[in-house]
Amino acid sequence: MFRKIQRKLTIQYAFFFLLFVLLLLATLYISISTIMQQQQVQELQLFFGKERYHIEKDDEPQREHNKDDKIIDGRKIEYDANRANFYYVFTKNNELVHGDESFYGLYKDVAHLMLDVKAGDPQTVEWKDEDLLLIKYQLPISHNGNYMIIGQSVTKMHHLLERVMYAFIILIVIGTLCIAFLSHYLAGKAMVPIKKTFERQRKFVSDASHELRTPLSVFYSSLEVLENDDENRFSAFGQEVLIDLKKETQHMEALLEGLLFLARFDQNKLTTTKENIALSELVNNITKAFERTLPDSIQLKIQIDNNIHFVGDETSIRELLYILLENAAKFTEKGFISVSLTSMNNYIKLIVEDTGIGITQHDLPHVFDRFYQVTKNRQKKGTGLGLSIAQAIVSHHQGHISVESEFGQGTKFIISLPILKKD
Ligand code: ATP
Ligand code: MG
Repeated sequence: MFRKIQRKLTIQYAFFFLLFVLLLLATLYISISTIMQQQQVQELQLFFGKERYHIEKDDEPQREHNKDDKIIDGRKIEYDANRANFYYVFTKNNELVHGDESFYGLYKDVAHLMLDVKAGDPQTVEWKDEDLLLIKYQLPISHNGNYMIIGQSVTKMHHLLERVMYAFIILIVIGTLCIAFLSHYLAGKAMVPIKKTFERQRKFVSDASHELRTPLSVFYSSLEVLENDDENRFSAFGQEVLIDLKKETQHMEALLEGLLFLARFDQNKLTTTKENIALSELVNNITKAFERTLPDSIQLKIQIDNNIHFVGDETSIRELLYILLENAAKFTEKGFISVSLTSMNNYIKLIVEDTGIGITQHDLPHVFDRFYQVTKNRQKKGTGLGLSIAQAIVSHHQGHISVESEFGQGTKFIISLPILKKD
């Protein structure tokens, strides 16, 4: 149980840490990339301011020509790979007027790349292996609708951001692993006092049940002595009180036995044997004996496969069957109770089904809880420990118990037990 809580806490801590770090790093990443992009846009705007002065004056900036100048279609493109920023001037029909190029041949595609982009909007586009930041500017009316595209490469910045992102991912993975280990350790530490208190409580229940058993049996025997004492006969009312007292004492004895069993189970102190049980025979005998106690309105159906053997504690398995059969009889007025025992591969399946009052979906998840009794059925005698004990027995044999029920239709308890080897 504590392991489960520890695991749950670890997962929760790790999840919240992951969420927090993810949010933090995502915000950081977005801020860094926005700031970097804004800086590049600003750089381009400055560049535009400078180039525009020349272009508006005489339609072509003053520049030094070098050997890389290319003459294309009678228009001039100056190519220089080391240039940080580049520009192109196009006519309104997207024909190149002139430009400074840092990526050879970009002038052929750049107008097309920026075709539907609004003037003034920075746009990042992919061209060959490059990421480019481009801005389109409309030139004054005196330039016959000519426009200008300026830009610079942001490939390096993108690579840098990519590396930052990988570093963040590694940081998140390492951080989450560290926090998972740390929270596992801390959750374990935090649970030590809870564990101790819990153990103390378990021990108290076990000791108290144990101590109460002896006086209770003395009390019961004394009541029997009183009942059989011919010299001091009780009145009819006295007899009635005596019978009620005996019933209550029996109920308390059953309660103490149940509590003691569960306390031993909790402390892993169940003293059970591992014996080879002829299960088919055992279930058959118990069920047949049980049939005799049933009223005529309830029919018993038995379907038991032959020769099923099981290694376990016979007394506990008997107890398990009694608990389920008693419940079926207690909560069924008419119809049938069916018991089936089958074996498949390495499992034995025991099913006890009835056509009784059934259990609502609201109560169903709680029927295995200690002292849980469906409120409406409280008038039926019982301690509310039967199914908790049944569950403990099944779990002690490494099996699994489940319940299916339809309110007003009936209930079905399904038990699967692994066929264990006797060691
Ligand atoms: P006892 O400890 O004496 O068996 P109990 O029968 O009330 O008391 P459980 O056997 O643990 O306690 O069952 C818990 C509750 O589950 C019951 O009170 C009852 O409301 C419901 N229940 C169990 N079996 C059935 C069944 N076959 N049909 C309908 N309700 C059931
Ligand atoms: Mg019961």
